[in-house]
Amino acid sequence: MSSRFCHCSFLHLLIGLFIFGSTSAISAHENEDPTIKTMEAFSGYPIHESNSLISDFVSSLSVETQTLQNQIDELSTFSDSPAPSVTRILYSEKDVLARRYIKNLMGLAGLSVREDAVGNIFGRWIGDEPELPPVATGSHIDAIPYSGKYDGVIGVLGAIEAINVLKRSGFKPKRSLEVIMFTSEEPTRFGISCLGSRLLAGIETLANNLKSTVDGQNISFLDAARSAGYANDQDDLSSVFLKKGSYSAFIELHIEQGPILEEEGISIGVVTAIAAPASITVDFEGNGGHAGAALMPTRNDAGLAAAELALAVEKHVLESGSIDTVGTVGILELHPGAINSIPSRSHLEIDTRDIDEKRRNTVIEKTHQSATTIANKRRVKLSEFKIINQDPPALSDKLIIEAAEAASKELNLTYKKMISRAYHDSLFMARISPMGMIFIPCYKGYSHKPEEFSSREDITNGVKVLALALAKLSLN
Ligand SMILES: [Zn+2]
Repeated sequence: MSSRFCHCSFLHLLIGLFIFGSTSAISAHENEDPTIKTMEAFSGYPIHESNSLISDFVSSLSVETQTLQNQIDELSTFSDSPAPSVTRILYSEKDVLARRYIKNLMGLAGLSVREDAVGNIFGRWIGDEPELPPVATGSHIDAIPYSGKYDGVIGVLGAIEAINVLKRSGFKPKRSLEVIMFTSEEPTRFGISCLGSRLLAGIETLANNLKSTVDGQNISFLDAARSAGYANDQDDLSSVFLKKGSYSAFIELHIEQGPILEEEGISIGVVTAIAAPASITVDFEGNGGHAGAALMPTRNDAGLAAAELALAVEKHVLESGSIDTVGTVGILELHPGAINSIPSRSHLEIDTRDIDEKRRNTVIEKTHQSATTIANKRRVKLSEFKIINQDPPALSDKLIIEAAEAASKELNLTYKKMISRAYHDSLFMARISPMGMIFIPCYKGYSHKPEEFSSREDITNGVKVLALALAKLSLN
């Protein structure tokens, strides 16, 4: 330990002063701000030392980039598909091994580890004032089939490394710092995205529905959880719920999953809002029939109804007039799916998102009206129009945005404020905690495929900004 660390409690006060931007504190000093004077008198240290101590602290933040890269590579080997792709499905054997790997790293970082009934994993660094709500950070490590090794992973391994960075710097948190690995951010196995964070946010309908939820192989959620060592003797998952205010802040580090930062050559994205997602399933039923024998005027083609609805979704999205409104028909299935058979049934799955909830809901309403109109016109039955989820958007917390901005500035990194169009566990953590996100660039914006990539430099920058933001928020 260098002599610098004997100033530890003084460092607390100084960083506390600098929490929301060293630049404002520096200019305050130049203007002889009375609070700075008080600090100077109180601490007994000449104020000019403070700036060098702060810059000492900032420059003492060093990421073990090679170790972190090795961990990213090693974690990617817990996969059910060949490298470079990664497939890691909830509660699979590989998922259980990957969880063990994470818990081990948390232990090595000196965190006290706990798991809840669905396998959200928490690693806590106890602060000097452990009774205060902690500051949390984290993400997910599950991976959809044939995806990449950075989505989510950066926010878990990077968070553990951010803790290590702070420990190596001699920092002592006031509020405890907690790393969370969320269960099943991806909807692959049970069709529910952000399963772990939704439950943490206390969504009771989900806790109830999970009692009867099964996967594609008819394995129940609870059986699958038990096979991975969770939900032992309990069907009631409400033990997972966290109270609002459990954390003073939650901040997630994630790859952008879009091309903006890379294209603009910017190191850090500070997320100001997460777009509100909704998903809908629609089924049409017609009479079907022989593709040659049934004449056009007599047909009620469920496939054409689906095609028309897909175009209607696009039209309603464009009618919003906002670039932030998006809509996608990602699944369109026809039954029986034969070239010489008129589709008797069609199934669509529609995803629509916006940062403006009302505008997004207008798209849903118009899509419903179109589905009804199309069904009448084509004499098919609209047998289902089901809104699977209709989540509100989340706005980042002002103090967390400021902490991430100040951290970027102090580290001399370029940054820009931006919207997250993809959603993350942060969307649900926002219901119980002030929330923020830090994005780093990723190659061509690729994600959910093996080509997903972030450079060591970008990862290192992200981890540093996260570490510094956590330090600031911990002293808040
Ligand atoms: Zn993710």
